[in-house]
Amino acid sequence: MQQSQSHSHFPSTDAARPLVTHLGFPRIGARRELKQALEAFWSGETSAGALQDTASALRQRHWQLAREAGADVVPCNDFTLYDHVLDTAVLFDAIPPSHRALCEADPLAGYFALARGLQRDGHDLRALEMTKWFDTNYHYLVPEFAADQTFTLRAGKPLAELAHARALGLEARPVLLGPVSFLKLGKRSDGGCPLELLDALLPAYAQLLEQLRRAGAPWVQIDEPCLVLDLTPQEQAAYRRAFAALAQADAPQLLLATYFGALGDNTALVASLPVQGLHVDLVRAPGQLETVLAAVPERVALSLGVVDGRNIWRADLDAAVELVKRAGARARWIAPSCSLLHVPVDLQLERKLPDRLRGWMAYARQKLEELRVLADALGGDEAAREALDIAGRARVARLLSPMLRNPRVRERVEAVTPDQSRRLSPYPQRAPLQAQRLQLPTFPTTTIGSFPQTGAVRQARADHRAGRIDDGAYRAFLEAETDRCLLEQEALGLDVLVHGEFERNDMVEYFGEQLEGFAFTGHGWVQSYGSRCVKPPVLFGDVWRPADMTVAWARYAQSRTRKPVKGMLTGPVTILQWSFVRDDQSRAQTCRQIALALREEVLALEAAGVGIIQIDEPALREGLPLRRGDWAAYLDWAGECFRLAANGVGDATQIHTHMCYAQFNDIIESVAQLDADVISIETSRSRMELLDAFARYRYPNGIGPGVYDIHSPRVPCAQEMRELLDKALDVVPSMQLWVNPDCGLKTRGWPEVRDALRAMVQAAQGLREAV
Ligand code: GLN
Ligand code: ZN
Repeated sequence: MQQSQSHSHFPSTDAARPLVTHLGFPRIGARRELKQALEAFWSGETSAGALQDTASALRQRHWQLAREAGADVVPCNDFTLYDHVLDTAVLFDAIPPSHRALCEADPLAGYFALARGLQRDGHDLRALEMTKWFDTNYHYLVPEFAADQTFTLRAGKPLAELAHARALGLEARPVLLGPVSFLKLGKRSDGGCPLELLDALLPAYAQLLEQLRRAGAPWVQIDEPCLVLDLTPQEQAAYRRAFAALAQADAPQLLLATYFGALGDNTALVASLPVQGLHVDLVRAPGQLETVLAAVPERVALSLGVVDGRNIWRADLDAAVELVKRAGARARWIAPSCSLLHVPVDLQLERKLPDRLRGWMAYARQKLEELRVLADALGGDEAAREALDIAGRARVARLLSPMLRNPRVRERVEAVTPDQSRRLSPYPQRAPLQAQRLQLPTFPTTTIGSFPQTGAVRQARADHRAGRIDDGAYRAFLEAETDRCLLEQEALGLDVLVHGEFERNDMVEYFGEQLEGFAFTGHGWVQSYGSRCVKPPVLFGDVWRPADMTVAWARYAQSRTRKPVKGMLTGPVTILQWSFVRDDQSRAQTCRQIALALREEVLALEAAGVGIIQIDEPALREGLPLRRGDWAAYLDWAGECFRLAANGVGDATQIHTHMCYAQFNDIIESVAQLDADVISIETSRSRMELLDAFARYRYPNGIGPGVYDIHSPRVPCAQEMRELLDKALDVVPSMQLWVNPDCGLKTRGWPEVRDALRAMVQAAQGLREAV
């Protein structure tokens, strides 16, 4: 191993001292420089050259930052302009026929057309489907393969990034998404199994490995996160075949990287693969170290993921020391558990956070510094040992801090009884009471909550934050927006109205800001997809509700109209799922605290006379554990938390929930057990096929299957929506059917929203006349 000049902590031959590395770095930039460069390029303001310059500068800066923080070896080819799975598809020329001509004529334009679609200059290209990367909030583009897909190597990007890093004097390890995960994460246009394409793909991988070796890479990192999933015997066989083939190549040494969980029943499989290195996640699965040490041959060098790549707390370095010592000389590298893609870049930029809290946290850069301290302390460095002590004390200080605990909250969670999460009467008894109170027609029409967040709304919020307008002026503005929104809904003839959510920046942040136990960062950006980032709240302490959160707006809106207005809340599981949460207690425990706070809000809304309360849980499904065997326990506590929040109300109060995803088959029972009076779901893109799960289960309560796709500016006509409703009526009894769009309307413009909702109301009226 060559050691570059700039780093002289110790000779890398020191057996007791592992090397510090990481599996990947955030690409977006500490100040979201990549986002700005991408968006400027897309809007035509800047050239491709300017974009590539920014990308190159970011790569260089991140390598240098990692080196300065203490990394001995850095990854390369972990950078991407949009998505690393899309990069892999392009690398092996797995491009749908529709996009091929453009990809050949203008590779960069073709690449972005695959990522985002293209409707310009005579092109009409759709974007690839996007879906969540394992159980993270990062979205990747789903590769699309033909049944007879061929693969041709286009090795430009990995070779260029390797050459760039080497020119800077760095020891760089190219990162590739492994062949089995790549295929398994994709789909075949004919519906066949993508793994059947493995034999066609492997020669291209082998060729790439040979080129990387010739270009001077001593190691290549092959990411195979699918190795922590439940695998079929066919998938296991695919792994054997794939690595046997790669072992034949004149390749660099292979570091097989697994993360997001334990290898579990795949341990023996992994141990049998002919690789020279193995990375394991010891944060999610510290217990697997023993089995890995026992099963994996001595000749395989281990990379131990001992610092959490998924959360922002400083590591428990004492526990990490124990793990690394147990691995002894087999611990060649220490690293974060997974790519640092899922955490923000640099805590040093944070000015907003209270000092105490900041002292407990670590972003990507600080995580590498922790690993440096760990490695040096293991090597006997005195200063590092001291730093280790300081880190240990900081951690203990956090765990003992009164900021984390509110005895009242703990007592209340302890005192929860099962009847608190059950409605007073079963649905068949509640439904007539609600019908009498609400006086709705059959096929009631409604929306999911938000209306367009126009430039004016965003501007007013920014002005208010910056102090350019005072509370009174901001409030008056929001009232006027709400009034206008209610008038629009009345004019359209909707039956159940919403206030429009103009006061909300984000459906989680809005609640986090009003609850105790949350903090907000200034630079805690994490890539969600492409140029889009989220800034998850930091849930550090016991959660409680010091005051009403939404009651004033609900009351205001209801005072402006005689139609019923829904109260609108974000559910406990979604708040949990979209935050960085504390790691000193279980997620279930934290979720229960959120649920209790929301329960108080629900009861306050009810007491204020609100007859319908919607509790959104768009993230319930994404919280599902990666292994099937863990699903039941999760669904148990997640469901219990929703019910605890929702079900304290009287029979005549109608609880709605909203979930926008395209798969219910495997969780329908748990969804039904939430016992919401009405659930609205996304169905329009699947043309109501989604409803099958509900029909098969004989879902007993109200359902509003979305009748139009809010992700697209296209406005469907009433006839189109009517056809979807007729399809829905094939499987849903008419008394249960509600009429609504797929999701909230905040990203749309008013003209299209008006047209679409007018058509939706017309479709519902047509249906009422027909049945
Ligand atoms: N009530 C929210 C809205 O309409 C729901 C958003 C969501 O499901 N993601 O914006
Ligand atoms: Zn939604």
